[in-house]
Amino acid sequence: YINEVSVESYLRPVSVKSLTSKFDFSYLSNKTSANVDTFKQYGYQIKPKNVKFQYLNSKNKDGEPKQVLDMNTDTYEKVVQKEINEPKDYDIESIRPPENIDTYARANATIVALVRNTEITKIGRTIKRFESSFNSKFNYPYTFINDQPFSDRFKKRMAKFTKAKINFVTIPAELWDKPSSIDGERETAAMDVMKDHNIAYAKMGSYHNMCRFYLGNFYNVPELTKYKYYWRIEPDVDFYTDIKYDVFKYLEGTGKIYGFTINLYDIDESVATLWPETLRYLNSGDNYKYIDPNGAFQWLLENKQNPKKNVVTGGYSTCHFWSNFEIGDMDFFRGEAYNNWFKFLDSTGKFYYERWGDAPVHSMGLALFADRDKIHWFRDIGYNHDPYHNCPNSPNTQGCKTASFSRWNHLKDQNCMGTWIDQAMDDPDKIY
Ligand code: GDP
Ligand code: MN
Repeated sequence: YINEVSVESYLRPVSVKSLTSKFDFSYLSNKTSANVDTFKQYGYQIKPKNVKFQYLNSKNKDGEPKQVLDMNTDTYEKVVQKEINEPKDYDIESIRPPENIDTYARANATIVALVRNTEITKIGRTIKRFESSFNSKFNYPYTFINDQPFSDRFKKRMAKFTKAKINFVTIPAELWDKPSSIDGERETAAMDVMKDHNIAYAKMGSYHNMCRFYLGNFYNVPELTKYKYYWRIEPDVDFYTDIKYDVFKYLEGTGKIYGFTINLYDIDESVATLWPETLRYLNSGDNYKYIDPNGAFQWLLENKQNPKKNVVTGGYSTCHFWSNFEIGDMDFFRGEAYNNWFKFLDSTGKFYYERWGDAPVHSMGLALFADRDKIHWFRDIGYNHDPYHNCPNSPNTQGCKTASFSRWNHLKDQNCMGTWIDQAMDDPDKIY
C-alpha cells in the first residue's frame, strides 16, 4: 500500500496551458520528494518533470475536518433547500409525456436492472414505484440482466408491473466470470485481510464479479449494444418525485452523458491502489491525452472533509456517484478513453485482490475523461437507496425530508455533495 503518500499525487500534464485555472501545477518541491521515492519503491513510474496535482481549496474551506464538514453541509443544505421544479437549462416543455404513448418516438434508451431471481419482491417494489414516478408516462423498455437464467415466476411477476416491453437476458459467462488469470491464493489471502478490516462484501466472490461486470462489461451485453442511454435501477429503492419530463431526451438534448442523484465517500481500503494504479497508467505511453481538460479533478482529490481517506488511497478522495442510480450514455463507457483504462485496471487483478467498486471506477473515469459540465446532478429527482437519499424542495416531491441526506445523523460526513457544488458546478442556479 502507498499509504505514506498523503496530500499530493502526481501527473504529467499535456501542456500546462490546456489545463484549467483551478489546477496548481507548481513543480515538485524538496518537501515532497519523499513521496516520489515512495512511488518509485513500489514501481510507479515518475517522469522527471512531474508536477504537483493538488487539491485547491478555492472556496476557503479550511480547518479541522469537523469545521470543513459543517461548511460543506451548509453549502449542500442551502442549495437543496432552494425550491426547484425542473432543470432550467433545457426546454422542458418540449419533452413532456406524450398524449399517445403507443406512438411515442422514444430516445434510444432502456431501463437496466441487474438482479437475482431471489430478489423478486424487492425489485418488484422498485418497478412499482419507478412506474408510478416516471415510466408509466413513457414506457421505456426494460432489460433485466442476470448471471443465471430468470425463472418463469420472475418473468411473469415483472410483466404485471408494467405495460412496457421487457427483455430478460442471461449474461454471457465471459462478461461475468472471474478471469482465469486471477491467482486464487492471492485472492483468498486478500479477501481474508479485507474481511478482518470489515470491508463490506469482501469475501463474496459474486459481489466482485458484479462490480467488475457493471464497471467494465455491462454496456457490451449483446442485448444492450443497440441502446445508447440507460437508467440503472436496483432492488428496494424509492422514488419520491413525480417526474414529468423525458430524462433521456433531456440528456440527449443537452449533450450530457451522465446523471446522478447522490454523491458520497467510499470505504478507502476497498480502493487503496485505484488512484496510484491509474497514475501509473496515465504516466505510461501517451495515455495522458485522454484526460479532459475540464475534468472534475478537484472533487477527485478533495482532502479536507475526510482526510484520512486520501492517506490510504494515495490521494483519491473516494468521492463517487452512487451507481445504484445512474442515467447515462453508454457510448462514454464504450469509448476508447474509458475502455483502455478499464483494460489496464483489469490487468492488475485488483477487482479481486482489492474490492474496487463499480461506483468509484465509473466516477473516476468520468472525473478524468469527461467534461464535468456533462455530468448532471438530477437534483430534482427524489431518490432513496438505504441509508442515503436525495430529497429536493419541489412541488413534485413527496415522502422525504427536504434536504436531508440520511436518517442517520452521523452519516452526514459521508456526503461529497458540498465539494461537488463548490468545485464542479460553475453555478447551480444556472441549471435550477
Ligand atoms: P449494494 O447496493 O452495494 O449493497 O449491493 P446490492 O446487493 O444491491 O447489489 C448491487 C446490484 O447488483 C443489485 O441490483 C443486485 O441485484 C445486483 N447483484 C449483486 N450480486 C449479484 C449476483 O450475483 N447476480 C445477479 N444477477 N445480480 C447481482
Ligand atoms: Mn443495492
